[in-house]
Amino acid sequence: MSETETSRDDLLRKIRDEIINFTASPLYEYRTSNNYFPVIGEGNHNAKIVFIGEAPGKNEALTGRPFCGAAGRILDELLESVNIKRADVYITNIIKDRPPDNRDPLPNEIEAYAPFLDRQLETIRPKIIATLGRFSMGYIMKRYGLADELDSISRIHGKIFEINSLFGDVKIIPFYHPAAALYSTATKENLKEDFQILKDIV
Ligand code: URA
Repeated sequence: MSETETSRDDLLRKIRDEIINFTASPLYEYRTSNNYFPVIGEGNHNAKIVFIGEAPGKNEALTGRPFCGAAGRILDELLESVNIKRADVYITNIIKDRPPDNRDPLPNEIEAYAPFLDRQLETIRPKIIATLGRFSMGYIMKRYGLADELDSISRIHGKIFEINSLFGDVKIIPFYHPAAALYSTATKENLKEDFQILKDIV
């Protein structure tokens, strides 16, 4: 293993440990009183694509793995449809702990957890940041200087935004959240079509 790879693993391990011990988190008490795990992220530390969801659901909090429930099965299906292996990408969320009753993340929770996501991205240095749902879309677009381009997800899903980041040129692509496909076949079709972009640019 090269030196760069080792330090990448070490940096991600450090982020993991900090999240595990993030006692100041607004969701720490809820995590520990329910015996939940934080969901830090998983996949290839050298991934070209990082997928960013919203927050862990119950299955994820019980296992510590992102997208391992119903929404995860949709994500797996979408990845398979464009011949991308889950093991080749990195999958994470903005919020690393389950919010009660799967409610939407609160602004103070996004603020608390976003610095971990920023560091994960700066460590993995992906070429493509694929946001899943409006919360990660909103956060990432503002973070990377695209606030003026931010619009409703129904208008900008599947659009490619090219930016220059500290770690080089990056394409940011907003996708609908896979959970939305559980309730709408039209959204599932949109997601399938939008995923084709990944096939073309990977
Ligand atoms: N929904 C998300 O946004 N993230 C997960 O990890 C699971 C469901």
